[in-house]
Amino acid sequence: MQKLVRGIREFREKVRPGYKEKFAHLALRQAPDCLFVSCADSRVVPNIVASTDPGDLFVVRNVGNLIPLCDPSGIPGVDTGEGAAIEFAVLVLNVKDIVICGHSDCGAMSALHSGQLPAGAPHLQAWLRSGRSPLEEVARELHFREGISPVNRLSQANVLRQLDHLRSYAPVRERVDAGTLALHAWWFDIGEAEVLAFDEERRSFEVVGG
Ligand SMILES: [Zn+2]
Repeated sequence: MQKLVRGIREFREKVRPGYKEKFAHLALRQAPDCLFVSCADSRVVPNIVASTDPGDLFVVRNVGNLIPLCDPSGIPGVDTGEGAAIEFAVLVLNVKDIVICGHSDCGAMSALHSGQLPAGAPHLQAWLRSGRSPLEEVARELHFREGISPVNRLSQANVLRQLDHLRSYAPVRERVDAGTLALHAWWFDIGEAEVLAFDEERRSFEVVGG
């Protein structure tokens, strides 16, 4: 906690002066271009990874960067938080892009891979169940970098599977079909501090701008 308080003090003294005008402007409205969905993992920092400023990204973070599959009738299921954020980002903020960003050595993917979850965690079990769609099936159609671990293979396949889940939401599907919304699969390699994006032609994750 002391580290957090020290951080706030530092922000006030060193960062705030440079951002004062920006925040005064942002206080009136937000107009992000992008909905960014990432894992809650402390090592994944969307604004640093994508070099963005306050106001640029509408961010949803959860364990495993999962998007619950929407019921075909559009009726909300048990997990409504992600669906609410998607509807708000698409229908109210009119974002033009949605990025789902997975990452290496993801604890959620490790749990899915091993099937081992901590005892006394019914919410975690129920949540990860929503990500347990047949990822191996997706993985079979991908090309992986040599030496990539089984958990990281699963993690990359998971990002693509979650893009499918995104398309199960009518507002997303309609705008993608109309060409006004684009979906992107990203993957952050923590050890290399490198962002990879899915290349449709190569069927593999490649270094962005590399
Ligand atoms: Zn993770």
